[in-house]
Order: sequence, then C-alpha cells, then structure tokens
Amino acid sequence: MPENPKYSFVVPAYNEEKNIPLLYKRIISLMDHHKSSWELIFINDGSIDKTIQILQEISDKDKHVKYIDLSRNFGHQAALSAGLKYAGGEAVISMDCDLQDPPEVIQQMIDKWLEGNHIIYARRQNFRKDSFLKKIGSKIYYRLMGKFTRIEIPKNVGDFRLVDKKVLAEINQMTEHSRYLRGMVAWTGFKHEFVDYHRPDRQKGESGYTLGKLAKLGMDGVFNFSMLPLRIGFLLGLISMISGFGLLLYQIIDVIMTGAYYHLYKWLVVILFIFMGFMFMLFWIIGEYIGKIYDDVRQRPLYVISEMKNFE
Ligand code: UDP
Ligand code: MG
Repeated sequence: MPENPKYSFVVPAYNEEKNIPLLYKRIISLMDHHKSSWELIFINDGSIDKTIQILQEISDKDKHVKYIDLSRNFGHQAALSAGLKYAGGEAVISMDCDLQDPPEVIQQMIDKWLEGNHIIYARRQNFRKDSFLKKIGSKIYYRLMGKFTRIEIPKNVGDFRLVDKKVLAEINQMTEHSRYLRGMVAWTGFKHEFVDYHRPDRQKGESGYTLGKLAKLGMDGVFNFSMLPLRIGFLLGLISMISGFGLLLYQIIDVIMTGAYYHLYKWLVVILFIFMGFMFMLFWIIGEYIGKIYDDVRQRPLYVISEMKNFE
C-alpha cells in the first residue's frame, strides 16, 4: 500500500443542485486533514435542474472535482457503475449526494481499510422518517434475501461503502446489465467490515428513488442473486398438486362412505383455477429470466457519457 494512498469519492447525482455544494464542503473539511490526494467524481444522471451548471462551476475552480455527464437518466446503479469505472483511487468510496451518507463516517471506513479490510460497509442503525412502506418493505426484503440467496448480502447496508481497488477491478469486469451493486460487491467475497452509523434525513430536494425505481432494484436483487423465484414456482406447483390430489381423495372417500354425489365440474373448476394460477406464475418467472438474457445478449452499453471533465 502506498504511503499516501489516493482516495476516490463517487457520487451519483440526480437533481441535486442544492446538495452538491454542501457535500463538496464536507468532503473538503474531511480531506483537509489528509496528506493523501483525492478526487471527487460526480455523475450527473440526466438531472433536469441546475446540477450540471453547479458541477461545471465547482470543477472549474477545483481540479479535485471531476464529473461525468450522462446523456440521460440511466438510474442510480448505472450512474454509480459509470463513476466506479473511472475512479482511480486506491480506495474508492461510493455515497449518495444528499448527505444521508455523512462524510464524517468515512474516516472510520478509511481506518478499517488501512487495517487491511477490502470492503467496508456503512450499516444503518435506524430508518428514521422513511415511509412506513419503505420500512416494512426493507425488513421483509432483507429477511427473504437472507433466506434464499446463495451469497450473503449484508443487512441494512446501501451503496455507502469503501472498496479497495482490487475489489473494484472485479466489479468493473462484470458486464451484467441489471446491476445490483451491493450484491456484486458481496459476491467478490473479499474481507469485509462494518461501520455503524445513524442515517439522517435527506438534506435538500426530494428523493429521486420513486417506489417504482426501488421495486426494480429490489427485483434485480432477487432475480440476479437468488433462486427464490424458482422456488416459489416449485412451492406453488407442490401446493396445487397436493390440494388437487386432496380434493380428489376427499371426493372418492365421500362417494364411497356416504354415497354423496358431486358434480365433477365443481372440482374441475377449482382445480383448473389453481393450475391456471400456477402456470401464469411460471410464465412470469420464465419471462423475467428471458428478459434478463435478452438484456445481456444485446450488449448495449450500460450508460452513455456525453461529457467528462478534469479526468486525465
Ligand atoms: N440518483 C441517481 N439517479 C436516479 C435516482 C437517484 O443518480 O435516477 C442518486 C441521487 O442523486 C442520490 C442517490 O442516487 O445521490 C440516492 O437517491 P435518493 O437519495 O433519491 O434515494 P433514497 O435515499 O431516497 O433511497
Ligand atoms: Mg437519499
């Protein structure tokens, strides 16, 4: 490890005109104490406010600040991937732009990295003020993911983390399109540690993560890193078969014992419904996987850059 390692901060920004100057100041006051060189890379993810103007201003004055301007909104994970690709530091810290990932936590992450850990996750201790749906949703989600994934994805961590450049080299080689970076990082299997912190509320502006975008991220996590959907199909198939046979048995016994008469259509209708549901479920699951294969075989770029600034 070099004596004064270089640090990269990678920050996707979608409509963050108000937060960028605040974050910039906090990073400056953090890095003032360091002899190390550093870079602060913003990725403008097709913002429709003054984000890009603010970035131009700051990067004109300070060469630490670099930006990648994407041609449109590609989403948080793609934007982050773009930044990670061009990060040149020995340690690379990814974080949100809205100061929900407090720069002050970074010092502790750096310390753990210097101790020889390759991945340091910042772990949230609270879910203050997040909507009820987000809270419950993330609880259930992490419980299920924990049960069904082949690799262990740490709980209550987002994309606020420090990774060694060794880890980053692996991530940058992964070509999959539906990206679930925290899963990909965990998949590399490098030595990891946690830093616990309290997550404050978003500083300025509004969350760019609509429920739709959040649901998509969650689904990417499930489908890319687990066999859960396949097991649901298997489970439903089993349940519908057992209930089908159960009903049949019941009918046979009832007819033999009491001589009751059941119109066959009554049972057929019920069984038909169960099986139809099962088939639809399977179609949906197969469709999801085919969609992902289609996405990857097209080999389209993950994002399109329209401009880069202050990079060598
Ligand atoms: N973001 C992005 N593209 C998007 C949505 C969000 O680059 O389409 C960025 C955003 O600027 C922020 C980070 O992703 O830096 C997290 O987004 P946000 O704070 O809106 O999510 P939340 O904290 O509400 O989950
Ligand atoms: Mg936020």
